[in-house]
Amino acid sequence: MRARHEVAQVLEQHWPQVERHTGINSWQLRTLGAIMRCRTAAMGGHVDACPDCGSVRISYNSCRNRHCPKCQGRKREEWIRAREAELLPVPYFHLVFTLPEELNPLALLQPKAVYDTLFEAAWETLLTFARDPKHLGARPGMVAVLHTWGQTLSLHPHLHGIVPGGGLSEKGKWRGAPSKGRFLFPVKAMSRVFRAKYVEKLKERLPELDRSLVNSLFQKQWVVYAKRPFAGPESVVEYLGRYTHKIAISNHRLLKVEQEAVTF
Ligand SMILES: [Zn+2]
Ligand SMILES: [Zn+2]
Repeated sequence: MRARHEVAQVLEQHWPQVERHTGINSWQLRTLGAIMRCRTAAMGGHVDACPDCGSVRISYNSCRNRHCPKCQGRKREEWIRAREAELLPVPYFHLVFTLPEELNPLALLQPKAVYDTLFEAAWETLLTFARDPKHLGARPGMVAVLHTWGQTLSLHPHLHGIVPGGGLSEKGKWRGAPSKGRFLFPVKAMSRVFRAKYVEKLKERLPELDRSLVNSLFQKQWVVYAKRPFAGPESVVEYLGRYTHKIAISNHRLLKVEQEAVTF
């Protein structure tokens, strides 16, 4: 079904304000410009012709930006097929590493430092537990996807990790998690290790980091959340497609577009 409203239409209506907006950096502006121009005359067009029946179709070019509501469907399919090819016939776990909201202001100012550190700290936390012979004693794997927004489009940075229930031993042999796929690692202990690693790495990246911010980060419990294991690789792929590869807002979620407000 065709959406009644489009993000592109909102951008076009307000483009002069978007261009002048001080909270939008050049990379974000390029993305928004691509979304606005996608499949319009501004992108140019192409001709598809069938050599068998001779039928000809003329269409505008797509922007192919991964944030674009019009392009997301195909990108998602390509991504799912590539991940499917990597799947192993083992149980999978879904971990979510969430940053406390105290880091939100810094995430807006220094997104690269904050998010690079999130990927590194999450991976090293997983390595710490997987390598420990008490838990697994093997090298793990993870597909990690960063989400920076929640359902209400407010800043809510968290990392989704899809983790096979096992890993490779030093000799390169598969070693499955001891609980037969019911349980991976203790999440309370993981949360503490994740917090310590995150703060340590962020301090390395940003040596001028505010002391009171560091203290507030340690005063709070951080959350590593383990969702129920997946039934099998098929549901992993379905999950990835539905949740971890979606854009901030799709055209179908726009209910009303007015001069002063957009309802979604
Ligand atoms: Zn597009
Ligand atoms: Zn998410």
